[in-house]
Amino acid sequence: MENNFPLNEEEIDGYVKIDRYNPEKIARIAGHYAEILELLGEDPSRAGLVKTPERVAKALQFLTHGYDLDAATVLRGAMFEEEYSQMVVVKDIEVYSMCEHHMLPFFGKAHVAYIPNGHIVGLSKIPRVVDIFARRLQVQERLTNEIRDCIHETLQPVGVAVVIECKHLCMCMRGVQKQNSVTTTSAFTGEFVHERTRHEFLRLITASLD
Ligand SMILES: [Zn+2]
Repeated sequence: MENNFPLNEEEIDGYVKIDRYNPEKIARIAGHYAEILELLGEDPSRAGLVKTPERVAKALQFLTHGYDLDAATVLRGAMFEEEYSQMVVVKDIEVYSMCEHHMLPFFGKAHVAYIPNGHIVGLSKIPRVVDIFARRLQVQERLTNEIRDCIHETLQPVGVAVVIECKHLCMCMRGVQKQNSVTTTSAFTGEFVHERTRHEFLRLITASLD
């Protein structure tokens, strides 16, 4: 893991906007994209495209910045001893990821719950964990399991539940062109394996406050 490039982190609403890139890698990725543009029948030297390879390279580095971050470390940095033993649910977490088969975006929402076992975690860290695993090349199934496993192993709670609902542009824009289909994946540990607890979680994530 190379970390010898500029790093500026800016905290916005509990999210960290990371704007960093490795100039050497950017130049190499951009070089490949100039060639790809040509192979697609474009003229990479025309005004609208001159800076495109570099923009794409920077966008790709941002969209995969999760590789440089360790989700367990982020969670451990905000763990607190607490007797609370009811379900903690964080729902409607925005997810933006890229499928590893087509390198096209998939996006939607994640709903995460855990039942503490002596430790709770700062609430903003749950969306951070989702983001760290989402900002990599992914499949939705693995993304779901990685979030579950990270919370399970770090917090060692009574149980963890993760449900993710996403639209995949590789399905919407190409192939079967099922434009409005949503893919749902779920992963559970511990107490959530029992139907009653799982139902309570599913009721909470579908309930509305108004
Ligand atoms: Zn795909």
